[in-house]
Formats: sequence, structure tokens, C-alpha cells
Amino acid sequence: MAIERTTGTDLDYGGESDSRKLLGQLRTALAEDSEGQERLDRVTSIIADAMGVEVCSIYLFRDSETLELCATEGLRPEAVHKTRMRIGEGLVGRVARDKRPINTADAPSEKGFRYMAETGEEQYSTFLGVPIQRLGENMGVLVVQSKERRAYSDDEVYGMEVVAMVLAEMTELGAFVGEGAALAPLHRRAVTFKGGIGQEGSAMGHVWLHEPRVVVTDPIGDDPDDELKKLDVAISTLQISVDELLATAGSADKEQLQVLEAYRMFANSRGWRRRMEEDIARGLSAAAAVEKEQTATRQRMSQVPDAYLRERLHDLDDLSNRLLRILTGQGKETGAEMPENPILIASNIGPGELLEYGRRKLKGIVLEEGSVASHAAIVARAWAIPLIVHTGPITAEALNGDLILVDGEHGVVHLRPEDPVVGSFRDKMAMEAAQQERYVDLRDKPAESKDGIRIRLTMNAGLMADLPSLGSSGAEGVGLFRTELQFLTQPKVPRRGELAEQYSSVLDRAGDKEVVFRTLDIGSDKVLPYMKPQDEPNPALGWRAIRVGLDKPGVMRMQLQALIRAAAGRKLSLMFPFIAQLQEFRDARELLFREIERERRMGHLLPHEVKVGAMLETPSMAFAPSQFFTEADFISIGGNDLKQFFYAADRENERVRRRYDTLNVSFLNLIEMIVRRCQETGTPVSFCGEDAGRPIEALVFAALGLRSLSMRPASIGPVKHLIRRMDLVGLRRVIDDARASGAQSVRPSVVEFLYKPNNGS
Ligand code: PEP
Ligand code: MG
Repeated sequence: MAIERTTGTDLDYGGESDSRKLLGQLRTALAEDSEGQERLDRVTSIIADAMGVEVCSIYLFRDSETLELCATEGLRPEAVHKTRMRIGEGLVGRVARDKRPINTADAPSEKGFRYMAETGEEQYSTFLGVPIQRLGENMGVLVVQSKERRAYSDDEVYGMEVVAMVLAEMTELGAFVGEGAALAPLHRRAVTFKGGIGQEGSAMGHVWLHEPRVVVTDPIGDDPDDELKKLDVAISTLQISVDELLATAGSADKEQLQVLEAYRMFANSRGWRRRMEEDIARGLSAAAAVEKEQTATRQRMSQVPDAYLRERLHDLDDLSNRLLRILTGQGKETGAEMPENPILIASNIGPGELLEYGRRKLKGIVLEEGSVASHAAIVARAWAIPLIVHTGPITAEALNGDLILVDGEHGVVHLRPEDPVVGSFRDKMAMEAAQQERYVDLRDKPAESKDGIRIRLTMNAGLMADLPSLGSSGAEGVGLFRTELQFLTQPKVPRRGELAEQYSSVLDRAGDKEVVFRTLDIGSDKVLPYMKPQDEPNPALGWRAIRVGLDKPGVMRMQLQALIRAAAGRKLSLMFPFIAQLQEFRDARELLFREIERERRMGHLLPHEVKVGAMLETPSMAFAPSQFFTEADFISIGGNDLKQFFYAADRENERVRRRYDTLNVSFLNLIEMIVRRCQETGTPVSFCGEDAGRPIEALVFAALGLRSLSMRPASIGPVKHLIRRMDLVGLRRVIDDARASGAQSVRPSVVEFLYKPNNGS
């Protein structure tokens, strides 16, 4: 369809001064002491008037999927708060979905046009809709329509975008909330987010944003010259700070320098500055102009498929953020007090930053991104606080201090929940607490089934702070001590002396209980901050764990020396991660014995006993030569990795991870085979993946012959409780019957069995 361009007609609204005039009128309207709806109505009439059009309407999101006509000048008033459309539906829905303007002189012939009889819009053929958005947050659509067939000039579209930006800011600030308005107040309504479970548990508390939001309180500038000056000063400050960063980075690693150089390039970019200057000339304040630019960057970021370009846009976004903080004076440190029972909200967070908050401070963690197997998840698990990952845009919605409920059992987050939800959540927490009480009573009792089968329950750990749980949970030892956490939380490789001291304290705290140290498992998602990232197409299948240890043995040797020294005169149990073939185990063990020999030559006191195990976390080792089972002093099944490789399903990818049940017959057959091979050679075997801490999975493993399970401390009570009520031989029969029946998973049969009276339910 040909668009007739009409720039320069008597309706011409392209000039900057017209734009400023309109913003000025809007500001006056917004400053008036009126209720939300009245204000919104007034805004539509001002815009319609300034643009010389018959219709101006504002549609805002009712929920993430539905837009609602909230105010109009020109359409039928009865349609307000009645006309709704889903995102993508009709022209308005398309503007919202694509976050791009639609400008047409013949709306009815446009693809997707939907005629809304109740609004009386059939007479209007010209349509211009622009998204109301702020920093990637979709808020609604601003529309103007007229009978005259014309298309708006680029300049007019741009002017409308500036107006939409102001509306976004005002909506954000709650300017349209009030009596009589059916508008759901932004940042005040109850919102639920669904994510992945990083760590179970329930928490009720208040939002603490890792990166507080910057709020632009006055989006309209009084005097463009003043605003231009402010922008100029802020950009100079920014440039100086980037130059300083570059100077202090000195000969830091090349990639870091490259990032800083890119920063400097953006900070000096004419195009970047010019776009913001143009917005100021149209009437925006300097801060709003920066935010508008940032909104555009985010919009581009969401559409660019190229990873490199996305990264660069990310740098630009980060730079705008810094500029905005300089302009508004709202630094990261806002001086706000951390609320009671803080629940940390972040888009993502590294383990170092997380550990800075300290174990006792946080009641829960919610991450917009993150993954179940991320470093944050490991720390959250160690801290035994609920963690939800992959929630989507919660940082845009939550405000510091908001009430928030974290349901780590179902992966649900309730932000600003309604009273009935709070009430039932309290009941749920009370029930969980009562349950925990029951587990405390079990602490010193053995995990022995009704038919007399004894299961050894140990805990997984990774931080010094985990050790107190050894006593409180009733764990019989530490079945897996993940040593990489100490490495992940430091800016440089820890020294041998430091490590020896830490390992020694771990052994001191454990007393006569065994601690199985696992040597460094880095690579894949566990990237050390000081290690050059490997550009590998498939890091989970790449150069990680023992592969790094054997190829570049410097750090592993140092770690082995530290472990030998820490265990002087005591028992040392250690195991190697990610063994995929017998020779790797032999080489790693050889390395250990060489270090022991070296320590002996140096006259150091040696451990009085050394047990060397292997983690079995690649399917290849289930089929290894029997020498693997005879030479290893013990085997620990790393179910997290074993499962991901067995099913070829990335453990960090929520979409594929959940497709495959641990109780799937194929996986159980594999586990059973490993157990049988260990029984044949008399090799102690344990299971230390996350599934060991899930009560039903733990029971099934026990029924299949596993006699040792290592799990997070909070799982020991529930698992022990169930084992003590269980007839494992009976359960085994149920599992065998289900397997013989051709079922894909034994779960339904097991659950049915558990629900029978006297069977653990
Ligand atoms: C495993 O893979 O099951 C395991 C315990 O190791 P991690 O989760 O640290 O990879
Ligand atoms: Mg593993």
C-alpha cells in the first residue's frame, strides 16, 4: 500500500518547539491535582489537539498478555476499560508485540487489522501507534487516528515516540493510578513469576534489589539548554571514569582491556550523544533522553541474533546505565536500609558477589536469569535458602521493600501477594516447620528401613559455613566436598598454605566423621574469574575438571599438596571428578602418589590412611574395564552429570532437563548395573548428585542396592524419615514389576505404593 507523505501540511507538527510545547502542556496536566483517570483523559485530549487529529487513545497492559483501552479522545467513551486485545492482536496488539510503530494511511487494509465495533473506529482510516515502553518493559500503546487519509512524517512519528516515553515514565511513577481508574497500578499490583527450582524451601520476606532501579522523576526538561549542559557534564564525567578504569587496568588481561576500549569508544561516540541531544531538543530532560536511548538499545538487543553484536549492545546498555546514575545521582549505594528478611532479586549474580551478602543475611534468592547448576545455585544450596532461577523480568517489576513469597518447592514467586495468598503461604511454612521439628527428633537415629536395611546418609558441602550442618542434620559425614567454591569466590588462585589451612579446619570440624574431598571441578559453567575463558562450542563436553587437571597439573598438584598437609596424621579421602576412561583415573592417582612421595621426602607428616575414589559421571565408566572398579577405593555416582550425558540433555537447560525422569527405567537400569559391578568387586559406592536428596528418588536408589547417599543437609531429615517407614524389599518388587510391564518410568507405581497405608505416606 502506498503511503502518501504529508510533511509540511498546515498540520505539520514536526518542529522541535511544537514538541516542547506539547510536553510542556502535558507537564502542566500531570502536575494538576486530579485523579488518575481524569489525568489520563486530559493527556489524550491534549495530544489529539496538538496533533490535530480526531482520535488519541492510550492502551495499557492489564497483564502481560492483554492490553486495555484506558483513555480516549474521539472513540466512544463506553469502550474505555472494556475494549481489550491480546498482544499481537489487531494493529494495537502488533505495535505492542513488535515494540515498533505502525504508521498507515489505510488501517482497515493493514495486515491483522481488527475492527472493534464498540469503539466506533470504523470511520478512521489513518493510524499511528507507538509503543509505550521503558527499558525493555512493555507498558502499552499510544495511538492517534484520523479520518483524513494521510501518513505521518518520520518527524511526527519521532515526536510521538518522545511523548510515549514521557507517558512511560509517568506510568512508571504511578501518575495515572487513582480513584475511578481501572488501571492496575504498576509496581503495586500482585504479580506471580514462574521459574526453575534452584533450591527448594519456602521464604517470606522483602525485596532487596542487587542493582536498584534508577527512577527518572522528571522526564520533561524545563530548558533544553540547561538539559544539554547537564548531559555534557555527565558525559565528561563518564569519559573520565572510563579513562581512569583503563589507566588502572594497566596490563590486565587482553579481553578486559578490549571491553574497556569498547566502552571508551561508545562514551566518545558522536551518534550516541547526538541522539540524546535531539531528544532533549524535543523537550525531554537529560535523564529521560538517556533512558530513551537505553530503551532503544534494549529493543535492538532483543532482536539481534548475532551474539557478538548483542554483547556490544550490552556494553552500550551498561554505559547508559552509568550515565543515568551520574545524572540522577542514584548510585548503586542508594543509602537505603536493607529490609527485614531480605530476599535478593537480581538478573544474575556471581558466587563472589553473593557470598559478600553473607549467609545469615538473605532469606532467599530470585534470579531473572541464572540456572539450576549455576554458581549461585551451588552457594544457595550450601546456604540452604530457596533459590528460583529463570523467572523472566522480575527486576523491572519489583521495588525494594516489596513483600515477596518464594516457593522453592514449585518454583513460584509471589510479588506483592494478595492477603489470601499470604495466609495460605504462612500455613504452608508452618507445616514445613512442624515437619522439620519431626526431623530433628530423627537426627541421631539410623536411616534403617523397616526390613532392616541400613543406608548411610552423608551431606554435600563446599564452604566452611556448611560444616555446622554436619551436626545439626545428622549427616554421617561429608560425601562430597566441592573444592571449587573456594576457588570461585576469590579474585586469584588461592595459595597452598591458605588451602591447607581451610581443608584442615574442615577436617577439624568434622572430627571423626569422614570428609570426601573432590579435587577441583572447573570448566563448563564453573569458570574461574582469573582463568582465561575457553572458547569452546560445547563447554559441558569440553576441557573441564580432570581434563584440565591432567593437562595443566600445576593447580591440581598444589591442591593435592594442600590436602595431604591438611590431613597429616589423619585419614585423607579424595576423589577425582569427571573420569571418562580408566587411564585418566590411573594418571590422576599416580599424580597424587607422586605428591605424597614428595611430601615424604620433604619430611612432612603424611596422612595415616589415603582413600582414592573416582566420580562416575560419564556413562562410559559404567562400562569400564573391571580394573576401574578394583583399583578405585570407592566410587561416587555424580548423577547430575551422568544424567545429562546419558540423556544428552543439558542440565542447565530447563527446557530439556525436565523431559527425562530420574526414575525412567533406562536410567535405573544404568544405576543398577553400576551398583552390581561395584558389588562384584566389593567397591563401596555412593550417589552424590542432587537426586539423592529427593526422597522418592533416594528410596528407589536404596531399593536398587545403593547403601550410601550424599545430599544437601536439609534433605537428610526427609529422606531418613521415609526410609525408616519403608519396606525396601517390597518396594523393590514394585519397581521390578513396573520395569517388567514396559512402563517408561517407575514413578507412578512407586508413588501409588507409597500412598498405600503404612507405606511411608
Ligand atoms: C554431579 O555431577 O552429580 C556432581 C555431584 O557434581 P557437580 O554437580 O558438582 O557437577
Ligand atoms: Mg559433576
